[in-house]
Amino acid sequence: MKRIDEILCGVKTTAIAGHVRPDGDCTGSCMGLYLYLKENYPQIQVDVYLEEVRPEYDHISKIDQAKCICDEEKKYDLLIILDASSKDRVGVAASLLDTAAKTVCIDHHVTNLGYCMVNHVSDKASSSCEVLFDLLDEEKISSDCAAALYTGIVTDTGVFQYSCTSPHTMRVAAKLMEMGIPFSKIIDRAFFQKTYEQNQLMGRTLMESIMILDKRCIIGIVRQRELDFYGLTPGDMDGIVNQLKNTKGVHVALFLYELKPQVFKVSMRSDELVDVSSIAAVYGGGGHVRAAGCTMTGSPYDVINNISLYIEKQLLSHEGKNA
Ligand code: 5GP
Ligand code: MN
Repeated sequence: MKRIDEILCGVKTTAIAGHVRPDGDCTGSCMGLYLYLKENYPQIQVDVYLEEVRPEYDHISKIDQAKCICDEEKKYDLLIILDASSKDRVGVAASLLDTAAKTVCIDHHVTNLGYCMVNHVSDKASSSCEVLFDLLDEEKISSDCAAALYTGIVTDTGVFQYSCTSPHTMRVAAKLMEMGIPFSKIIDRAFFQKTYEQNQLMGRTLMESIMILDKRCIIGIVRQRELDFYGLTPGDMDGIVNQLKNTKGVHVALFLYELKPQVFKVSMRSDELVDVSSIAAVYGGGGHVRAAGCTMTGSPYDVINNISLYIEKQLLSHEGKNA
């Protein structure tokens, strides 16, 4: 018996939910599970909650059925949360954590401490889609479900580039390809394609970026007024921090964007020298060793001064020096 059958045993109603500002892995895993349950368990009534669906994930079947407002009165037998590493990251369906009879988390974040009744967390997996795939019965995965799961794997691995990509990831992706998905289109739509305005903001952010710590750390900053000027939202800036990190000689990229005056979301990317998840955790955030984030208050300079101390400490310890 596949573990999904154990999870669903005796369940009549299920809610599926992801995290705030859902990315490709969150959207792909929530929709992949939704499609799988719809197609194979017609006796179970299932709802999927996703805060806002980004246009780059439009190719996912039945994405228009995702609910962005939670029915708090509804009592579910089971709540399955995907890709959310902590309670405070759970998006629109957070209230269901207190009312659902059983809660299950499927995730791959090293900072996940297990906040559900049952937790399937594998920090070695590339993505929550990969963890989910391993819980499902391969024979029952349709091409629509496969396309959703492939979307999450592609986006969380940077198209199979980041170090979270393993031989197992490639085997899972190969199996999904064999299910007849339009993989080139998915990669282009979900990862590479940007609007003209997104590219303009990326270009401007790179042009105005600054280097610190002997050019080993690069920083990009976007203020709310710039987002407003281009008519963009925070979700439109995916990819900027990775492009900053592509700078030769840089070990850490920091990308700050203003959520409101004196409040910044900080995205961090690193290579093998620096563990950014531990730095994000100091400020109440989390994520992965090489990709993490947190929210901080103060001016951009306060944020940079605070975080750069931790980065410098880790870089110096690699050189055998104490900060
Ligand atoms: P990104 O920089 O792309 O927003 O996020 C990188 C990774 O860090 C993702 O896996 C994301 O889930 C995690 N992350 C980003 N911001 C936060 C945060 O505020 N809290 C926690 N726990 N994780 C975060
Ligand atoms: Mn993920």
